[in-house]
Amino acid sequence: APFPIRLSGPVIKGFGRGSKDLGIPTANIPADDLDNHPDLKTGVYFGVVALAPIQSGENGENSESGNGNTSGTNAHDTILPAVLSIGYNPFYKNTVRSVEIHVMPPTTQPSPTAATQSQPTFHRLPDFYGTKLNLLILGYIRPEFDYVSMEALIEDIRVDCEVARLSLLRAGYLRYLVDDGEGLEG
Ligand code: ADP
Ligand code: MG
Repeated sequence: APFPIRLSGPVIKGFGRGSKDLGIPTANIPADDLDNHPDLKTGVYFGVVALAPIQSGENGENSESGNGNTSGTNAHDTILPAVLSIGYNPFYKNTVRSVEIHVMPPTTQPSPTAATQSQPTFHRLPDFYGTKLNLLILGYIRPEFDYVSMEALIEDIRVDCEVARLSLLRAGYLRYLVDDGEGLEG
């Protein structure tokens, strides 16, 4: 598929397994947008997301209306690296295709936990259910695999995050991480 590929949609509720089982939150967006990209195969990809500033506070969770930004990207959006899976999550044997995006800390600053922990924990933001997420898919990492254990799955996702992080540092991709004030439209 020719990258970049743009996908967007409101952040919806998934099966709730990302955080609870795996300790890896994934923002789910509707799979409908995939119909516009029939050649996009299932698998794990890296890219960048534009997120509206998160206003935590109201009820502790931004449900339904989210933080009010349901439109496109805007000047205040933060551009962050992301790893995503498109498909059926063979380990969980889903019957419907899902698009699940794990948002990572900015690539340019080393994660503080990485130096002190051999198994850094996954990045956690305040919830942003209901907000519009704009995603730019920049490259393919691997197909979806089934795993003998949840630990094996988590370990592979760690590697995916590292692949994404290092890929985005390459000269050709760095420009996607630069916030030019126009969100992902620019
Ligand atoms: P669900 O099954 O509803 O998607 P998850 O356990 O996967 O539940 O958690 C996803 C939610 O967690 C996202 O919708 C978002 O609001 C929040 N979240 C917090 N940190 C992140 C992150 N780093 N990447 C993606 N989503 C995150
Ligand atoms: Mg999820």
